[in-house]
Amino acid sequence: MVDLDQVQLTLDGLEALRLADYLGLSHETAGKEMGVSRATFGRIVEQARKVVADALIHGKAINVEGGNYTRIDASVHRSFVCDGCSHDWREPPSTGRPEKCPACGGDRFHRIGKTG
Ligand SMILES: [Zn+2]
Repeated sequence: MVDLDQVQLTLDGLEALRLADYLGLSHETAGKEMGVSRATFGRIVEQARKVVADALIHGKAINVEGGNYTRIDASVHRSFVCDGCSHDWREPPSTGRPEKCPACGGDRFHRIGKTG
């Protein structure tokens, strides 16, 4: 990772992307989640999207504030399989454990082998 160009993403920015883009919350709702106004949330998420777009377009590593490195790359996605319906799906890194199976809504699922 040391040879990669890096961009800096704040934890606030990461959280904003998670709320707005991953969970699909409105800026209003997401702002409340983070304890900021809708306008402030809009600025945070806009800045974060620029950082992520820069990384995707130019193949840079994303340095999340606090020293964790996250790279937008299929190989770091995590795979899960549902024990109930056998649906399997992938989650991007750094989003925590999913709450439920996206297919059946069940909460019995487990992570399957890392790729790569
Ligand atoms: Zn399921």
